Amino acid sequence: MGKEIRVTVWNEYRHEKTDPAVSSVYPEGMHAAIAAYLRSNGLKVGTATLDEPEHGLTQEVLDHTDVLIWWGHMAHGEVQDDIVDRVHQRVLDGMGLIVLHSGHFSKIFKKLMGTTCNLKWREMGEKERVWVVEPGHPIAAGLGEYFEIPSTETYGERFDIPAPDTLVFVSWFEGGEVFRSGCCYHRGAGKVFYFRPGHETFPIFYQPEIQQVILNAVRWAAPVGGPTVQFGHFPEPLESVG
Ligand code: ZN
Repeated sequence: MGKEIRVTVWNEYRHEKTDPAVSSVYPEGMHAAIAAYLRSNGLKVGTATLDEPEHGLTQEVLDHTDVLIWWGHMAHGEVQDDIVDRVHQRVLDGMGLIVLHSGHFSKIFKKLMGTTCNLKWREMGEKERVWVVEPGHPIAAGLGEYFEIPSTETYGERFDIPAPDTLVFVSWFEGGEVFRSGCCYHRGAGKVFYFRPGHETFPIFYQPEIQQVILNAVRWAAPVGGPTVQFGHFPEPLESVG
């Protein structure tokens, strides 16, 4: 058995408080639904939300987080820049980050990607077919060749991201669009996974395949205990020179 993975699920948690169409699906918030599933799989899971002091992401919380999950949409601009910098530094130091759905426009994801992270979208409740394009990847464990989400918000290419280190999923939508739905990156010592599904008005975070992917992604993104690297001027060579 490896070390227990400590997860923090961060949710903006605004739609659930203001829109009955969302609170009827996620009465305790999307973070609670995700956290409950991960806990049932033996992970140590805390939650944090935008309206808590320091958005619930104190240095103490982040220092005890192996993998941070991020869902945001309507209030990206309210996330304080100093907290974004704090999360960014933890990723570079080795904390895993899983960015869900509309988190593509979060400050932290844009900062890590260095691009606009813009995309096409439409809300018509279309079917989505998510294809596994890297079947040997740990995030694809336990899945079939594809799985379907019966009704969802559509995202379409181009998705303005840097080419992923590994692309695990590609989605097709009923209306014809395609989208890179599961994108892996390394940033510093940390691993970042973007996962597209998760629009707030659909029960997507209760779907078994979605839960499986998030659990797999947590395990993949967890720190591996690699070396602490040293940068900068290094005047003492390991071998004698000259
Ligand atoms: Zn959405």
